[in-house]
Amino acid sequence: MLKITPYLGILVLIVSIGGLWYPALGYFMLLVFAAIFLISPFRGRWFCGNLCPRGSLVDFWISKISRKEKIPAVFRSFWLRIPVFFLLMGFMGYRVMSVIGTLNMFEKIGMILVTMCIVTTVIAVIFGTFLSPRAWCTFCPMGTAQNLLGGKKYQLQVKQENCISCKKCEKVCPMQLDVCNSEAMSDCIKCGRCVEACPKDALCF
Ligand code: SF4
Ligand code: SF4
Ligand code: SF4
Repeated sequence: MLKITPYLGILVLIVSIGGLWYPALGYFMLLVFAAIFLISPFRGRWFCGNLCPRGSLVDFWISKISRKEKIPAVFRSFWLRIPVFFLLMGFMGYRVMSVIGTLNMFEKIGMILVTMCIVTTVIAVIFGTFLSPRAWCTFCPMGTAQNLLGGKKYQLQVKQENCISCKKCEKVCPMQLDVCNSEAMSDCIKCGRCVEACPKDALCF
């Protein structure tokens, strides 16, 4: 992960709270969308583990109060993720379309983006607190989009000959992935924690 990753969570608070008074802050979300669609075709979910402000918020702040339970398998299912994607994106698109051409359109669209940021942050914080810090990230629409756009790119490599099956990598994985499995892990957020935790240098990107 990057040196600035732990501090990015502050941006969520700035947009969610400051945006109530300055709706233009909501346009920061467009930067996030742009970064996601530029990065994910080459690096999969790298954005989630390194640059996402909400990911940083749950990983470094909410994790301190989280119950750290097991994330239910259904959260990773595309039967849940695809409807959640279309529901949230469709709702946001519908609201944006309904204000196009009206008075103060720029501000209204900014407020729609701020509202979306607040709603998704509240969901992420609730799941992060009562379940696991990254629970929301298993079915977040932007995580699903990155999975579909580049989930097989920039894969974690496991040197099976070095691995002693100590499972230290799995204990530190915020996405609770089966790290030593040689199958492609399309939901790996490339945070590098498993690489750092491995005592046998069996992992690399
Ligand atoms: S899954 Fe969503 S909230 Fe989580 S880090 Fe990725 S983009 Fe951010
Ligand atoms: S497998 Fe490793 S790099 Fe991927 S999310 Fe888990 S800890 Fe991070
Ligand atoms: S931490 Fe390294 S040695 Fe231990 S199970 Fe994971 S890959 Fe294997």
